[in-house]
Amino acid sequence: MASNIKKLFQKSLKIDSIYKESENDIPSSNEISNSRQSHLEEFKRQSSSICIFPLNIRENYSGNYGRYIEKTLTHISELQNIKFEYALEDPTLYDGVPNLSSNKKILLLDLDETLIHADFDEKYVNEKYDTIIKFKACSEEKERNDIHVDNENDSTCSVSGEEEEEMIHSVGIFVRNGVHEFLEEVNKYFDVGIFTASVKEYADAVISFLDPENKLIKYKLYRNNCINFNDSFMIKDLRIFKNVDLRKIILIDNSMYSFALQINNGILINSFFNDKNDTELNNALEYLISYIASAEDVREVNEEFFNFNQILNDLKKCK
Ligand SMILES: [Mg+2]
Repeated sequence: MASNIKKLFQKSLKIDSIYKESENDIPSSNEISNSRQSHLEEFKRQSSSICIFPLNIRENYSGNYGRYIEKTLTHISELQNIKFEYALEDPTLYDGVPNLSSNKKILLLDLDETLIHADFDEKYVNEKYDTIIKFKACSEEKERNDIHVDNENDSTCSVSGEEEEEMIHSVGIFVRNGVHEFLEEVNKYFDVGIFTASVKEYADAVISFLDPENKLIKYKLYRNNCINFNDSFMIKDLRIFKNVDLRKIILIDNSMYSFALQINNGILINSFFNDKNDTELNNALEYLISYIASAEDVREVNEEFFNFNQILNDLKKCK
C-alpha cells in the first residue's frame, strides 16, 4: 500500500503553503504570479503529453462494471507523474468553494447520469420526461460552447446561435429511481453537496427541482471547480477544499475519472439514462448507512470493498 501511487492519490496538500518556502523568503506577488503561470503552463504541457481517450459513460453499466473499472484505472495509472499540484494553483478553481464546517461526514454527489439524466440530445424525446427544466445560457457557455459535460465525450450539449445570450434552454429530465428518498435519508447521516462538471446555470435549475425547499443540498460545486484534463475529462480534486479531512469525505460519481486523484474517496455508480428499473441509489444508500456513516476513515472502508488502490498497484507492477 505504501507505494508512490498511494502517495500521489492520497497526499493532502495545504494550498496556502504552496509558496511559503520559508519565513525569510516570501516571494513578491509578481513572483507568485509568474511562478503560478509557469506552473499552470507546465501542467498543460505535461497533460497534453499523455494521450488518454476516456471511456464513454455508456460503458459504465451494471453488466460491465468490472471491465469499466479496470479500463478506467489503466488510464488513471497513466496520470501518476503529472503535477496536479500545479493545476491546483489556478485561483479560479476555488471560486465559490464553501468551507466544510461540519461534524458530520461530507457526501458529495455528481449530478448527470448519477442522480438524473438530461436529454440534451433528444434521444428519448418520445418518452415521458419526469420534468422539463428551463435555464438561461450565460457567457461561459458562449465561450465553451457547451453546457453539460459528463467527463466523456458523448454527452456534451452544443449551444449555438447568434442570440445565445438571450436564449432560454429547456431540457427533458429523467430522475433516477428513489432520488428524493435518497436525499432525505443521506441527510440524516451526512452534510450533502452536489459536485458537478456542468455549468452553474444548468446545474442550479436541476438542483432547484431536486431540492425545491433548499434544505437537502448544502454545498454546490460546478465546472469551474473541476480540473480540466487536456479537454478529455474533468477531475474533481477534493484538495480544493481548505483543510479537507480526506477521512471524512465521499464523492459518488458515475465517472471514475472524477475521483482519479483521491481514488478511495470515490464510490462508482453505474450511469443512469432512463432505466425505470434502476436500483443503484438504494444500493448506494445501504452501503453508505451500513459502512461509511460510521467509518473512521472512509478510504479504508472503500478500499476494503472496491480494491481500487490494489488494482492500481497491480497495474503498476504489470508495466
Ligand atoms: Mg456524471
